[in-house]
Amino acid sequence: MHPSRRPLIAGNWKMFHGGRSSVELASGVVAFARELPSVDVVVAPPFTALAAIAETLDGSKVGLAAQNLYPKDTGAFTGEISAPFLKECGCAWAIVGHSERRQVFGETDAFVAEKTAAALASDLVPIVCVGETLAQREAGETLRIVKAQVDAVLDVIARASTAVAVAYEPVWAIGTGKTAGPAEAEEVHAAIRSWLERKDPALAARTRILYGGSVKADNAASLLACPNVDGALVGGASLDPGSFGAIARATKG
Ligand code: PEP
Repeated sequence: MHPSRRPLIAGNWKMFHGGRSSVELASGVVAFARELPSVDVVVAPPFTALAAIAETLDGSKVGLAAQNLYPKDTGAFTGEISAPFLKECGCAWAIVGHSERRQVFGETDAFVAEKTAAALASDLVPIVCVGETLAQREAGETLRIVKAQVDAVLDVIARASTAVAVAYEPVWAIGTGKTAGPAEAEEVHAAIRSWLERKDPALAARTRILYGGSVKADNAASLLACPNVDGALVGGASLDPGSFGAIARATKG
């Protein structure tokens, strides 16, 4: 397997733990990550905590991610944060196209592609989120929807020299306690890998495809054992170093 597909466990802290508690949480992550040399661990705190957490992570193997970015470098975009600012703040990663951004803030596939390009232009590794809603799954549209989301970023990620990550996150499984079973997850992961392969076999070989959606300590091992699941994007369970660490220990790494 391509070395860039080593296991990656990323924690999306969403709009939780914005201050001192996020620094404490980051210290707990640093401690467990030290024991897992072959697993890449990344945390995505709220913007307000990034600078403080960059200091906490300094010298550790834990990477810092932004949860979002705006795809212009500077300008009159009140309330927005650019990729160069995030880079300067210590980020090496950026989540783009999370379903909460798509659903609550109306982000389109085209806008997600712009953000992906902006992240790469500032040397941030994008974690591009894709996934279908419950209604789409029930209508048998899962692969069509996910393919459209992947297609939107395909040219951008194929051109990149950096190995990006794609996170398959069925929307119905996020924060709901419902998880795709390993077979359901693997079906979509394998399909994503095949679309990448069709574009460029080297792209398929180097891209990590993460699963996200109610990943917990007790279901992580079976999901992470799937051949095309290279790691996890974890929401709720990443807010506790105990459960986040248990998920990281469940990887193939
Ligand atoms: C997420 O926010 O990306 C996520 C997968 O959340 P949860 O693990 O809480 O479902």
